Amino acid sequence: MRGAQVGIQFVPFLRILNSERTSDMAQVAEQTKKAKGSVVIAAERCKGCGFCVEFCPPEVLELSTEYNSKGYHTPILTKRDLCTGCDICGMVCPDFAIYGYIIKKKTKEA
Ligand code: SF4
Ligand code: SF4
Repeated sequence: MRGAQVGIQFVPFLRILNSERTSDMAQVAEQTKKAKGSVVIAAERCKGCGFCVEFCPPEVLELSTEYNSKGYHTPILTKRDLCTGCDICGMVCPDFAIYGYIIKKKTKEA
């Protein structure tokens, strides 16, 4: 009986969580579709110096509030649609913990 009550209380909460996750994923997918580039981040190599954040021309990186296993804040791509894939973040990173790349778009066959 008690388990059933708990289940009833949590079902709407889980529905809200799932709908938020679905809309977040849809937003990420939409932004990724528009993006010219993206980055690969090796969080465990990062020492949280913030060079990549400082030198990114369109300012699309931020240091996360999360920590890696060494206790450093690592960068995250916050504005996915604005990354150009220029790889300046990769050039300035002293730890080879990030690199940018250009997304190849499929072209229509003639
Ligand atoms: S690839 Fe260029 S635009 Fe993208 S995050 Fe790195 S520096 Fe910024
Ligand atoms: S430049 Fe490299 S080490 Fe520094 S915060 Fe960015 S990814 Fe981490």
